[in-house]
Amino acid sequence: MTPLIRLQGITRSYPSGEGELQVLHGIDLDIAQGEFVAIIGASGSGKSTLMNVLGCLDRPSTGNYLLDGREIAELGSADLAALRREFFGFVFQRYHLLSEMTALGNVEVPAIYRGTPAATRRDRAAALLGRLGMGSRLDHRPGQLSGGQQQRVSIARALVNDARVILADEPTGALDSHSGEEVLSILEELNAEGRTVIIVTHDSKVAARARRVIEIADGRILSDRSTPGHTPAAKMTPDAGKGTVPVLGQLAEALRMALLAMRAHKLRSFLTMLGIIIGIASVVSVVALGEGSRQQVLRNISDLGTNTLQVFPGESFGDTRSGRVTTLVLEDGTQLARQSYVASVSPTVSSSQTLRYGATEATAQISGVGEQYFDVAGITLTQGRSFDAADVARMSQDVVIDQNTRQSLFPDEDPMGKVVMAGKVPLRVVGVAKASQRGPGGSTSLTIYAPYSTVQARYIGSTSVSGLTLRIADDVDMALAQQSVTEFLTLRHGSKDFFIINNDQIRATITSTTETMTILIAAIAVISLLVGGIGVMNIMLVSVTERISEIGLRMAVGARRSDIRAQFLIEAVLVCLIGGVAGVMAALGFGLIFEQVGSSFQPVYSAASIIAAMASSCGIGLVFGYLPAVNASRLDPVAALSVG
Ligand code: ADP
Ligand code: MG
Repeated sequence: MTPLIRLQGITRSYPSGEGELQVLHGIDLDIAQGEFVAIIGASGSGKSTLMNVLGCLDRPSTGNYLLDGREIAELGSADLAALRREFFGFVFQRYHLLSEMTALGNVEVPAIYRGTPAATRRDRAAALLGRLGMGSRLDHRPGQLSGGQQQRVSIARALVNDARVILADEPTGALDSHSGEEVLSILEELNAEGRTVIIVTHDSKVAARARRVIEIADGRILSDRSTPGHTPAAKMTPDAGKGTVPVLGQLAEALRMALLAMRAHKLRSFLTMLGIIIGIASVVSVVALGEGSRQQVLRNISDLGTNTLQVFPGESFGDTRSGRVTTLVLEDGTQLARQSYVASVSPTVSSSQTLRYGATEATAQISGVGEQYFDVAGITLTQGRSFDAADVARMSQDVVIDQNTRQSLFPDEDPMGKVVMAGKVPLRVVGVAKASQRGPGGSTSLTIYAPYSTVQARYIGSTSVSGLTLRIADDVDMALAQQSVTEFLTLRHGSKDFFIINNDQIRATITSTTETMTILIAAIAVISLLVGGIGVMNIMLVSVTERISEIGLRMAVGARRSDIRAQFLIEAVLVCLIGGVAGVMAALGFGLIFEQVGSSFQPVYSAASIIAAMASSCGIGLVFGYLPAVNASRLDPVAALSVG
């Protein structure tokens, strides 16, 4: 009959300095199913090294290891992980419990890696702990348990997948004699059930409890003595609960573990997130502010009226000659109004005059406009009426004042019907225009709207106008209309001594300018997000080093390299995702404050930008969590376990 474990000429050496340190020198050893073996030897004799080889935590340098007739050297790392998970159960001198988990949670870990359904493994873990006298301590964390209790939790963990072989490396080494005694009797009990128990110790009293004592010194077997007695029959029908959890459930497990790890290191997790929070908050805010200001500017432009062209004398705004160019006259407007593509024309003439009302004096712009001007320019009245075609025809002195004028001249009284002296001309107020918000802060100048005919006759004394506002027919293309107006007027004047402003052009220019600005500032915010991502990577790398012994333990109880990688990757993604949510909240909070402060425009948050922010936080987690995750998964479990 082949023994359960057969070692033939096993050696293990470590590179040291320029040469090699050989720790095991050709170990030959057979262990049968159901044996209780103690490996004894002085400190440094190679006991732990041998134990790690036995438990498939480490590979021998040379020699053959046949486990149940199978050559271990032929197995891949995933197969070895499966063996550690299901065939072996490790018990360590220093327990190696995960401090952020309860006793129950610790016992469940190997079953999670095995894929046992949650309810099954919880029942089983609770039953095992109950059996080991820990029934009342299921929810205690390792820090709240004594050494003996912690060792019992670790024995329960070794049993949760119903291991056939229990490997205990100095299980009583850190315990007082009473607790040590209890642990030994538990191991004896497990052996009596048919489990193979291999225990490493330097204490001959402990070794005396075993049926077979193998003494090693300097990596060689010195003696191998068996006490006669019967070896328990191989009962061993695994009852760890079959059935595996679907992928989604495994993901949920990984998420739960990541959350536990984050909860255990709240401050560190928060600091890791901080870069992401700031990055996401600034990207979302900047995009919202950009969109808000763009919409505000567009609203202002639409106040100016759509479908309108404005014709002014001169080359362009700021042309010093424009005041003297008198070729743009009323007749131009009259002729233009006859063109099919022009819906209406409203001439503007203006004159600056001193207003007097009672004791109050102020300078105002008298805007001479046509009766359609209010419609064309989108000006609405809060009070009274505007003037009509008849008023224009008879050069009426009825006028509309704007809010600024109203506040300057009539702070406490109703302006309707009052007569104001503008220069030498008396004007009667018949309406008040609503304040228009043109540009930040609005305008501070005073404006009075009067029929253009009145302004021409009373103030200017000529038929030249300071501008024509044309409303273009609805179905006409603006660019085409602009071109036609240009050709028409050039023909009339003999030269192009005017310029045309197209509101659509202004709108397009402003839109593209704000878009450029938004892209620019968003780029800066994205850089800050990258910096945040590098911060995440940095802290995750440090956290891998800090959690080396946790990673070693997880591998010892059967985690695959892919499990470790997934765990760290999920942690990174989770940190970034939570950071992203917090960042979006911060951005929304910023928007509320912005509103309270009462700015002229509000940030506009789009669902798209928020979704993009969340997606990029996930992406950052994946990208910057990858390196730490790979680092963690590449750790050597033996080296990792010996830390801490
Ligand atoms: P024991 O458990 O019997 O006290 P170990 O098996 O832990 O002894 O170690 C045996 C020898 O191997 C010691 O001299 C130790 O320094 C050496 N050793 C163990 N692990 C390593 C390693 N990873 N690298 C180099 N030397 C090691
Ligand atoms: Mg040791």
